[in-house]
Amino acid sequence: MPDTTAPAAVLQVALPVPLPRLFDYVAPAGATAAPDAVGRRVRVPFGPRELIGVVAAVGPPDDPSQALRTAIEWLDDAPLLHGELDASLRWLARYTHAPLGEVLATALPAALRRGEALPDTHAWAWRLTEAGQTALSGLKAGGRPQRLATLLAPTPRDEDALDLAMAGWRTAARTLAGRGLVERFAVPASQLAPTPQPGPALHDEQQQAVDALAACTGFAALLLDGVTGSGKTEVYLQAIADCLARGRQALVLVPEIGLTPQTLARFRARLGVPVHALHSGLGDGERARVWAAAARGEARVVVGTRSAVFVPLPDAGLIVVDEEHDGSYKQQDGIRYHARDFALVRAKALDVPVLLGSATPSLESLQNAVSGRYAHLRLTHRAGAAKPPTVRVLDVRKRPLEASLSPEMFAAISAALAAGGQVLVFKNRRGYAPVLLCHDCGWSAHCPRCSTPDRPHPMTVHAGGRRLQCHHCGHRASAPPACPDCASLGLQPQGVGTERIEELLAARFTDVPVLRIDRGSTRRRDALEGLLGELGNQPGILIGTQMLAKGHDLPNLTLVCVVGIDEGLFSADFRAGEKLAQLLIQVAGRAGRAEKAGTVLLQTHHPEHPLLLTLIRGGYHAFAAEELMQREAAGFPPFAPLALLRAESQQSEPPMAFLQAARRVLAPHAGRDAAGMPTLLLDGPVVAPMPRRAGVYRAQLLIASDQRPRLHAILDAALPLIHALPEARRARWSLDVDPVDL
Ligand code: ADP
Ligand code: ZN
Ligand code: ZN
Repeated sequence: MPDTTAPAAVLQVALPVPLPRLFDYVAPAGATAAPDAVGRRVRVPFGPRELIGVVAAVGPPDDPSQALRTAIEWLDDAPLLHGELDASLRWLARYTHAPLGEVLATALPAALRRGEALPDTHAWAWRLTEAGQTALSGLKAGGRPQRLATLLAPTPRDEDALDLAMAGWRTAARTLAGRGLVERFAVPASQLAPTPQPGPALHDEQQQAVDALAACTGFAALLLDGVTGSGKTEVYLQAIADCLARGRQALVLVPEIGLTPQTLARFRARLGVPVHALHSGLGDGERARVWAAAARGEARVVVGTRSAVFVPLPDAGLIVVDEEHDGSYKQQDGIRYHARDFALVRAKALDVPVLLGSATPSLESLQNAVSGRYAHLRLTHRAGAAKPPTVRVLDVRKRPLEASLSPEMFAAISAALAAGGQVLVFKNRRGYAPVLLCHDCGWSAHCPRCSTPDRPHPMTVHAGGRRLQCHHCGHRASAPPACPDCASLGLQPQGVGTERIEELLAARFTDVPVLRIDRGSTRRRDALEGLLGELGNQPGILIGTQMLAKGHDLPNLTLVCVVGIDEGLFSADFRAGEKLAQLLIQVAGRAGRAEKAGTVLLQTHHPEHPLLLTLIRGGYHAFAAEELMQREAAGFPPFAPLALLRAESQQSEPPMAFLQAARRVLAPHAGRDAAGMPTLLLDGPVVAPMPRRAGVYRAQLLIASDQRPRLHAILDAALPLIHALPEARRARWSLDVDPVDL
């Protein structure tokens, strides 16, 4: 219901709704729509609901003849979003072709999205008042209040320290405060800092990288391309220390599995300032506190996963993206941003250097380094005494295999254990077996929610054969005792997952610990640390999926066995080769990271596969050079930009109907450049690689162009029409610019 006729200036509010526009409101009662409204949150009526939005602009109403509703209340006295972060988020909305309100909702911590106030960021401490000093001797000896007062008599203490020192101190504090004997006061978090510890003396290549960064006076992108164990983290630490010494803030992005307590401890110990961590294991309150601490400039170093790229950095000096090739930087739903790419955009807007580190750089970043857009810093050898691991390919054609392991593999494991080393067996498939098959009639267990008649999706066997689980939608069932089709009891798990390898190795090597590390066994964040801590440096076997591919330094790991990579050699996705090469190099890089030399055994049925041959003979860079040539010839990224239109529905037909209609909207934009080459290519619509997931049918249309500005111009022109298609109302759809999984 309209409240008022529109005044000359109204609030144009970005709201978290999937409509590509801003919404006009009259400023809340008693306020005018002044320009300082921009960036502040407001609560507004929206249909029958209330929503929280951010004022994106102040100006004349879109439609002056229309009566407008009045915003309910301001949630901020001053802009929450302003300056560089505000500008960069607006850029992101244009780049992803997403509504600004949805981009802002993605970027803000949940507590702020819900309208909560920017939280306090200081720590609290307690001290005796003057009255308390005098009254101390009069308190009843041995009681809690007396014990607390005695603790505080020599020096005030912060609440973390009191938690450690005395159980139940809060009750005692309340009692004493009620009598005016103690008081609470705020202390800046920076007073709680440890003293910095020096790191190792940098080797020449590390020093050159640090010097290159120190020479940057404003924006620069630098690719730190260093083999595993070459000391990239030491370069980050030195560069961050330099940045802190200049009085600036540093932001470090790490992949989801790389942000371990081990990493944080190393940063804290070395830098001598509090390090603020941001990751998916934190509660909403804590996330908002870190965001606020960054916004106030109190957080000097923020280390976080993907969404940490959205923290405000009023005093920015440096952004680091560790393992820049990692897939977890790409958000796969909602606003499909890439944290590495957005980090580059922010660094440019902030006019600070951005350092991208990896042993296996993405082909995008490598191409930028090769073409001279990024400085290319190489660390070509391992730090300290560590030597590169020796890689051997085991041809297992016609070899007898037990749980997919060859006799040579068993012999190598025995030898490594006998020499006192640790062994990592890498298999990128969790569970017991990928398929449950009836040996009599050929029936197999399929996920009822992810299968289609022509593409059944098998359920993975878990718990030694007792349970079934779909790895795509999480659907669980117990394994049937007999075949549902023919009643045969001959149901057999087919193929091998980590659980089955664990079972076999635990039975074979009874005198050493055998630990399985995958999402099934280490659901909790610190469970992995606990497991590895118990293992220590004693001989033992670790079996794991890609969770083990990075993040943990295991100095006594001397043998890495890679099993079952063959599926990855024949995937249709144009990025599959790149991902497999990265995974192999990263896993291999776990071996021999300290004094003891490391060996990598790679077991395959395709020893002549070109990817393996190139990788083993020439290393990652030889592979990447060949792959880049093929990408250029085929017109794929990084040479041509892509966008993917996805659609899904509970019924099978609407996604295809929508994408066909969208194709008809896009097709007229096809043209030819001066050389006669097409400027727009449309591929599809086709069903998605997973045609159905959790009961939802999925299809996609690939959009390629020769140039990025052209692709964006076409999308800008076509999307309003696509939004308005009648078919668009029958399917859920989304656009993914620079899709990673096709
Ligand atoms: P990366 O991140 O490149 O895999 P790290 O920075 O974790 O490598 O370093 C690998 C190991 O080498 C760590 O144990 C680290 O302490 C050590 N290291 C790094 N730089 C040096 C150096 N200059 N001298 C001695 N040891 C070093
Ligand atoms: Zn059967
Ligand atoms: Zn499923």
